[in-house]
Amino acid sequence: MKTITVPCHYDNYAYIVICEKSKKAAIIDPAEYYPLLQILKEQDAQLTAIYCTHHHADHIGGLEEFLGDYAGLNVYGHYSDSNRIVGLNVSLEDGDLLSLGELEGKVIHTPGHTSGSVCYLFEDAVFTGDSVFGGGCGRLFEGSPELMYQSLSHLVAEIPESAEIYFGHEYTMQNLKFALFVEPENNRIARRMSDSAALLESGGFTTPSTLSQELATNPFLRCSEMTIRKNVAEKLFADNSSPQAVFAALRKKKDSF
Ligand code: ZN
Ligand code: FE
Repeated sequence: MKTITVPCHYDNYAYIVICEKSKKAAIIDPAEYYPLLQILKEQDAQLTAIYCTHHHADHIGGLEEFLGDYAGLNVYGHYSDSNRIVGLNVSLEDGDLLSLGELEGKVIHTPGHTSGSVCYLFEDAVFTGDSVFGGGCGRLFEGSPELMYQSLSHLVAEIPESAEIYFGHEYTMQNLKFALFVEPENNRIARRMSDSAALLESGGFTTPSTLSQELATNPFLRCSEMTIRKNVAEKLFADNSSPQAVFAALRKKKDSF
């Protein structure tokens, strides 16, 4: 499996996944046509599938042009988004199994950012769209904090700790600033910040991270940690009586941070 990160728009990431045995290629989030097309053309592989993590325009902006160029493309997305994603012809539900050539994948439904948000697991790589970011999670446009908390718990349970997390936007530095605010004692956050800053400065990306890195530094996956619970009460003056309440308080604060 080969994975290529393709920056699109201002801070979006789209990905190209290639099964090297069958030479079949897929796009995960056709955010923008030209940058993806250019990189696809350099590959010795045939585009057969487009996987959409959700319906937002910044993630599917290039979809119509790809549909016009490539006959017979399979366009995947959650069934509830069939009216919001143009050309969607393979409707998915949680737990559905996928194949790209000889690569096997799995659909993990993670409603919250949008109701039809899904993550795609191929081998040890998970593509999270706007559900999980480096050091953070997506805003809740179509779901309660309780629902998003449940979605993230479900995702974590479904993927190995070594899983690489390929997310949909370069928000890592802002997210880690917030992470450090709610957990100033966590040395791994400070270290991740300096590593990320160095990566970005050299023209690199902070995607992918790993689940183990997120579990150690992403406050939205650490709602049971004592320090975070304490700071939710002392700094945010919010309910910390359950991990769901902590998640809700963190998400609300992050919206205006
Ligand atoms: Zn989005
Ligand atoms: Fe987005």
